[in-house]
Amino acid sequence: MDNFCKICFKEINDYSLYNLIRKKNILCEECFSKLDAKFISFKIGDIKGMSIYEYTDFIKELIYKFKGCADYELKDVFLFRYITYLKVKYHGYYIVFVPSYYIDDERRGFNHVKAIFESLKLKELSILKKKIAHKQSDQSFKGRRSIKDVLEIDKNISLKGKKILLVDDIMTTGSTLLTSIELLKSVGAKRIEILVIAKTKMKRKDEY
Ligand SMILES: [Zn+2]
Repeated sequence: MDNFCKICFKEINDYSLYNLIRKKNILCEECFSKLDAKFISFKIGDIKGMSIYEYTDFIKELIYKFKGCADYELKDVFLFRYITYLKVKYHGYYIVFVPSYYIDDERRGFNHVKAIFESLKLKELSILKKKIAHKQSDQSFKGRRSIKDVLEIDKNISLKGKKILLVDDIMTTGSTLLTSIELLKSVGAKRIEILVIAKTKMKRKDEY
């Protein structure tokens, strides 16, 4: 059966070992090599994190198409080929999505972070919520709030003995993740790990 790459729509007709052992490939070799997974380790405070990709122009455009243009077909391209590895690595973890604004999900028709990570089939904890449905940029200067004021946690959900995998799409400064970690710790989370799709390269002071 004909098979087309979900990113560039070219026909996939290679006969690599990978394609023989998989039922259906969704990426051509060219797009796969452009994705170029790096599995970058980082830390936010004492919490360990991993970013699958670096935030390259290719990844940026792909996330924009998926998130901004609501191209739902792209949901599987980010974790494809790593599902088994990730399932083993995060076995037994509960997944917590960094929430997006409700109005954005409504407009898009799906929550983009959830759509990407649900292929890991981890139990989900809907414990973090966004308080208000305004974007920071929509608010007046005086009324602009910090991210911290906007995220809230459901204190009725017990985290006792649970390992948490906190996931998001893009990590830039890490401030939203840090706020999420603080909130999770405030209700007793002991073991937390972070997994993101892409992380921007932090510029060191001596770099231009
Ligand atoms: Zn392709």
